[in-house]
Amino acid sequence: MYIIILGAPGAGKGTQAENIAKEMKLAHIASGELFRQAVERGDELGARVKDYISKGMLAPDEVTIQMILQRLTAGDCKDGVVLDGFPRNIKQAKALDDALEEQDKAIDKALYIEVSEEELIRRLTSRWACRQCQASHQSGNNPPGEGEKCKLCGGELYQRVDDNEETIKKRLGVYFTDTMPVIEYYRKQGKLLKINGEDSVEVITGKILSALRKREFITK
Ligand code: ADP
Ligand code: ZN
Repeated sequence: MYIIILGAPGAGKGTQAENIAKEMKLAHIASGELFRQAVERGDELGARVKDYISKGMLAPDEVTIQMILQRLTAGDCKDGVVLDGFPRNIKQAKALDDALEEQDKAIDKALYIEVSEEELIRRLTSRWACRQCQASHQSGNNPPGEGEKCKLCGGELYQRVDDNEETIKKRLGVYFTDTMPVIEYYRKQGKLLKINGEDSVEVITGKILSALRKREFITK
């Protein structure tokens, strides 16, 4: 089973991808996370993508596509994956389709988590990530109050370099111009499932799982 999670920055892709992958026993592959790890390690890949990430621009397609296709060959992907953050433009979507087709595989479903722009900005400006488990949290306090730690693992919280007002605007712009056409791409293939992303995390996960089980698709 190959599932794609689509949505704007701040829509909750990472959280939902993690829940769905766990529930369905699939690997969770997050392109942004793979890039951030490379930057953290300071390796060649990290050096190539660092500036794009901090400016809110897409990393070059060749680098991104190669990284993801390589990751898909790992053993934990043999039963399928939940892809989070990839594909982010039509070129990436086509490259993924071609690569899967060569192995007689195909994307099964594309889940589009829809959230209003106002809510996205609110979430991104109050978002804190865990250094240990990478989970995202909302903090009313900015920065999080003294002693505020990750609710899941107790890890230290930090703010992503790209979660500042200017970069958030840039990322939303890129999302509207480059990624929205990808939603249309999967809709035309009859693979899109649209979900309201403004419910609670648990409600959204429940809706996705039941829809996947009932095979409800939007075809037009
Ligand atoms: P968000 O969805 O909140 O923007 P991500 O962690 O998915 O966060 O992505 C962070 C950054 O990593 C992006 O702004 C971009 O620079 C880079 N990136 C992630 N996925 C891709 C991709 N598929 N193609 C190009 N760049 C990407
Ligand atoms: Zn944590």
